[in-house]
Formats: sequence, C-alpha cells, structure tokens
Amino acid sequence: MIISMKLHSTREEIDEVTGIVKHFGYKVHSIEGEERVVIGVVGVGDVTACLESVEAMPQVEKVVRITAPYKFVSKEFRPGKTRIKVNGAEIGGDEFAVIAGPCSVESEEQIMRSAEAVAKAGAKFLRGGAFKPRTSPYDFQGMEEEGLKLLQKAKKATGLAIVTEVMGDRDVELVAQYADVMQVGARNMQNFMLLKALGKCGRPILLKRGLSSIIKELLMSAEYIVAHGNPDVILCERGIRTFETATRNTCDISAIPVLNELTHLPVILDPSHATGKRSLVPALARAGVAVGADGLIVEAHPAPERAISDGAQSLDLNQFAKMMEDLKPYIALWNEARKKEAAVAAAP
Ligand code: PEP
Ligand code: MN
Repeated sequence: MIISMKLHSTREEIDEVTGIVKHFGYKVHSIEGEERVVIGVVGVGDVTACLESVEAMPQVEKVVRITAPYKFVSKEFRPGKTRIKVNGAEIGGDEFAVIAGPCSVESEEQIMRSAEAVAKAGAKFLRGGAFKPRTSPYDFQGMEEEGLKLLQKAKKATGLAIVTEVMGDRDVELVAQYADVMQVGARNMQNFMLLKALGKCGRPILLKRGLSSIIKELLMSAEYIVAHGNPDVILCERGIRTFETATRNTCDISAIPVLNELTHLPVILDPSHATGKRSLVPALARAGVAVGADGLIVEAHPAPERAISDGAQSLDLNQFAKMMEDLKPYIALWNEARKKEAAVAAAP
C-alpha cells in the first residue's frame, strides 16, 4: 500500500497517519519530497482495516494498494511513465534517448573525439567509464578522477550529459560531482550498500540488469534506490548469461516490453554488451526501438581496434553515425507510437 499525503502536510498530520499504519502491524517507509510526502506501507498486517482507516483521514490524498513486492517502482503505483530530465534532455519522455561513447575513458583526445562525433550524430548523452569493473584484476581499472575530469571537459565542449559508472558507495560523492547520470554496472546490481547510498546522491541512476538476474530482482534493486529517496531510476537490459556462446551475452529483448508492463520507470537497451560484437549492434539497436525501449546505450570509439576495453563490440565513429542515420525511420515510427499512447492515456 502506498499513501500519498496532501500537498504541504504538516509533521503532525504525517505522524498521525504513520501512527495508524503501525497500529495495524505495518512498517512505514516514507519518501519526503519538497511538496508532498509519500508513505510506503510494508510488511504484514490487517489490510482492509488499515486501508479503510487511512482513506478516511482528511490529510490523505490517495491510497493505492500494491500487490507487487516492489512498491514504488510498480506500474500499480504510477500508471504513466516516469520522465527523467537530465541537462536539458529527457529519458522516458517524447524523445528517443541515445547515450553513446567509449567503454572506458582512455585519454583526452579519445574522449573529446568521441564526444564531438556522437553529439554530431544526434546523441544527447556521453558514456565513458572512469571506474571500470573488470573481470581480471590485471586489466585496466579506469582513469578514476582524472577520467571524470576529462568527461567534464567533453561536456563543456559539446553540451552532452555525462553517464558514468560508480562502483562503490565510498565513491558516490566524488562521481556525483561530475556525472549527470550515475551508472550501476551489471556486476553491482545487487550491491545493496551502493544502491542505498545512491538513494541520496541527487542524480538519476542508470541501473543495469545483472548477468544472472531475473527481472523481478532488477525491479527490487530499483526499489532499493527509490525507497531510499531517489525516484529517478532508468533500467537497462544489457544481456544475460545463458548457454549460448555465439554472442557475449544473450539479449533478452522481451525484457523491455515485460518491464514496460511492470514498471513506470524508463527502460533502455545496451546492444553492445548484449552481443559483444560490433556487427550485431545496429540490428539489436533497431530491435530496441521496435519493442518500445526509451533509449539506447551504445559503445563507440575513435579506434576500436586499439580500445583498452570492449573494442570488439565498439562501433567506430563513422559506423555509429551510420547506425544513427539508419535508425531514423524506426525512430519516426517510435514517435508516432508514443503520440498514440499519449492520446489513449489522455482519453476519458
Ligand atoms: C559498461 O557499460 O561498460 C559495463 C561494464 O557494462 P555492464 O555493467 O553491463 O557489463
Ligand atoms: Mn563496456
């Protein structure tokens, strides 16, 4: 159950409601926005009696009963999509969002060339890891703060919003100084200390699906971030591990429509990590547009053959520009579909 208080409710009014909820055996998890407080009711108690009492309280705007284990991120909580505004662009809104750039920030020249090219091709967000989660401890671990500074430089030059990974809760403050969107990598999807810290970081989060995680687990991880105070979470399908070896991962393309049924959070596709092969990226990107993703995150590099990480799945900058050009008719259909959906939602 989620209780939305009326605008500008007082502390006493909020405490009165939480007191009643606790009386019926539940725990409360409140999100205190500037104007409105939303109270998540969790645990086991007398649902009907609690609902009736709370609904009758004058300071309560609305009570929604939510059956899913993830409460704040469920579609039952909010039927429309959450739109996340970042640096003048939007994810989950009327425009298809493209995030692009190299796997890792490697040098000033590399990130500046990438940023200029992806901006010219129509991306609104620059990706680039400064903290890299690598399978081997002997592989390049990222440029860390120096890399974040280079991303900042690229943002200044191009106006692109920065999407970059944060690996541990101790780095949240540092990365938040430079990032417009904080990426949680697949290997960290269930790093609950990190998820909790990101609830308070004041930046939208890009949460990637774990390599072996089911969709419910992805949603529960998103719930951690929202329940700890941050409603702006973007979900990302990036392929899962299966018995198939022809691709690096298996792209669970149906995860996108499934998530669109279960949650109001925006959902994007990463066709680069999903396939591991640059030749497959444009086809998967088209699939992402067709199944209703809100955007893509794509690896692109000025010289993929020399990339320190993920070169095999990175497009070169010309291939990226071509992919963006080839996506245009698909994105035009996506725009039409979004308009129709909005008209249906607005109809009485
Ligand atoms: C990445 O985006 O470069 C990355 C490491 O992705 P993932 O966490 O999905 O493997
Ligand atoms: Mn990568």
